Amino acid sequence: MTDYIYSRPDRCGACDAELGPWLTRVVDRVYGVGGEWDLSRCRNADCAAGYLDARLTGEQLGSFYATYGTHAEPAIEARGATLLFRQVVEWIWHRQLGYPRPETPRRAAFLASLLGVIPFVRDMALYRIFWLPRVTKGKLVEIGFGNAHSLLQLRDLGWDVQGVEFDTVCIETARSFGLHVGEGDFLSQPYADGSLDAVVGSHVIEHVPDPGELIAAIHRKLADGGRMVLVTPNGKSVGSRTFGSDWRGLEVPRHLTIQTPGSLLRHARKAGFRNIRLFGTTLGGGIIQQSVQIRRGKPVGNTGRAAQLFWAVVASTIHLVRPKAADEIVLFCEK
Ligand SMILES: [Zn+2]
Repeated sequence: MTDYIYSRPDRCGACDAELGPWLTRVVDRVYGVGGEWDLSRCRNADCAAGYLDARLTGEQLGSFYATYGTHAEPAIEARGATLLFRQVVEWIWHRQLGYPRPETPRRAAFLASLLGVIPFVRDMALYRIFWLPRVTKGKLVEIGFGNAHSLLQLRDLGWDVQGVEFDTVCIETARSFGLHVGEGDFLSQPYADGSLDAVVGSHVIEHVPDPGELIAAIHRKLADGGRMVLVTPNGKSVGSRTFGSDWRGLEVPRHLTIQTPGSLLRHARKAGFRNIRLFGTTLGGGIIQQSVQIRRGKPVGNTGRAAQLFWAVVASTIHLVRPKAADEIVLFCEK
């Protein structure tokens, strides 16, 4: 008997409603994995989570990541405008999340007070540390930490950080910075129940075969009052509706499920989380920009600063009008 790591469920994993057909013959325009893929969608309009129509072995799933990567080196030395931006970011952390007042020039403080009111700038700053307020001593795990930027920043801010990742290059890089990281998935790591103060993951939950199982496991590993923060593309976004099969957030066949505000809220409630917040970010511009590239048959990737700024304004406008229809959403909750 074949051992499948992912099989599309018969009913929605979030709300248990029936699934119906959604999209057909979607191709991987991002990393060029072959094949045409169909997706089903939960029939409960308030949930509407998406599911890849497939049965996959671990080996197949692994092969989808052969050309995938987030291998940028962590930026350590910042100078000029980059340094100034970092100082602005540190001020926003100080003002919004209670981290220590940074020892930076007054002009950074002045700039931060100006720029910090722009949602896009504020989101860029807060996203880097997953909107987590300061704690005196907190044990944090990032699932799928990639280039380890966030882990290094959170360590500098006083968090006791660990990470878990599949990508061996990312693991090696993180270890070279003295980070304590494990290989594989979250469930196979030896964290004791009730031992963690925060578990975070950016663009992770949509890659996981069973999101409900992962969210329940995170709840188990968190201490009382511990926080879970997950960021993911929004299957009920303006972009998803506009671009259909060309929407960048689908990323077949690596995204096994497509979450929505309704599905994430249900998963969090089922696992027993409280103080559950679900909000959109203004940072979905890249998803919209790349959806346009896919639709036009152009190579997919980030282009110049001017184009990025344009799509950031588009994403910010969508967020302003309908925050929960943003292309990127955040689930932030407490045990
Ligand atoms: Zn559902």
